[in-house]
Amino acid sequence: MPVADAQQAVGGHRLVGTLDLNQLDLAQGRRVISQSRGGRAEHHPARRGDRLHPLRHSDLLPDCGVTERPRTDLTGDHLTGVQSHPQLQIHTVAVSGVDAALIEDIVIGSRILAEFGVLDGFGHVSARHPTNPNHFLMSRSLAPALVTADDIMEFDLDGNAVDARGRSVFLERFIHGEIYKARPDVMAVVHTHSPGVIPFSVSQTTLRPMYHNAAFLAAGAPVWDIRKDFGETDMLVRDPARGKSLAAKLGDKSVILMRGHGDVTVGPAVKVAVFRAYYTDVNARLQSQAIALGGEVNYLTPEEGAKADAVNLAVLDRIWNLWKLRVAATLGK
Ligand code: MN
Repeated sequence: MPVADAQQAVGGHRLVGTLDLNQLDLAQGRRVISQSRGGRAEHHPARRGDRLHPLRHSDLLPDCGVTERPRTDLTGDHLTGVQSHPQLQIHTVAVSGVDAALIEDIVIGSRILAEFGVLDGFGHVSARHPTNPNHFLMSRSLAPALVTADDIMEFDLDGNAVDARGRSVFLERFIHGEIYKARPDVMAVVHTHSPGVIPFSVSQTTLRPMYHNAAFLAAGAPVWDIRKDFGETDMLVRDPARGKSLAAKLGDKSVILMRGHGDVTVGPAVKVAVFRAYYTDVNARLQSQAIALGGEVNYLTPEEGAKADAVNLAVLDRIWNLWKLRVAATLGK
């Protein structure tokens, strides 16, 4: 479909952006994106995410009006199909010795979670260094919707930057380092302040799996209260001791809520940790709704959760590629 036709198909909008992709099927969306290379893309914050996030219209959901253009022209050959959009291709390797695809997962994951209101101006996505398990990768201190490959830095597990070059770093990087220390199986960590989970961090109601997409919650989602070990604080995990306490409470689980703060999700890959962050938030909102309906809520059992989680992990790329398409426009700004 020529770009002009696509523009007509979405109601005469002159420019192509995220909204327009909502109106098209994926194949059409790919063609529109590829043909819009070099053209300006207009952001439509008021209508972003209408199709993907079931609770997108909640007043609780912040909308991050991302309009930044990346600092680098991104090209590369490790991506195919939907990933072939030039604005999704990343060849800049900000950390030597690290596959560009892993850097890209951190960038895309950050932008996905911002796009769908799981992250706002705060929160972060990290990955364990693929060849040095005692290091991890995360962005310099920056709103997640603005992260590019050039912003990814390398840290040791104590939170020291390997090559800071004057860049500011996240205060709460100790969340990541201490979890990587405690959990050799964890290859990615996401920290969010997602609005849906906050009620479950401060009330006596346990976050439990409402449906199959959030099946990982069936294994349990403990709540960490910083006041228990550290008294009256600013609520931030700003040193290794606080990170270690959080990691201990996480135990072998995939999710932990932080009282009056947010949550942390972990996984064997960036995609998995991002998936869990997204569905933890959606599940929390749905659970609040189910409780509001009154009566007993019929949650997934641990056995159902384990079975459904295995399926989710097997089909993860399907939704990851869809999400990736949805953030393509933000990468082009
Ligand atoms: Mn935080």
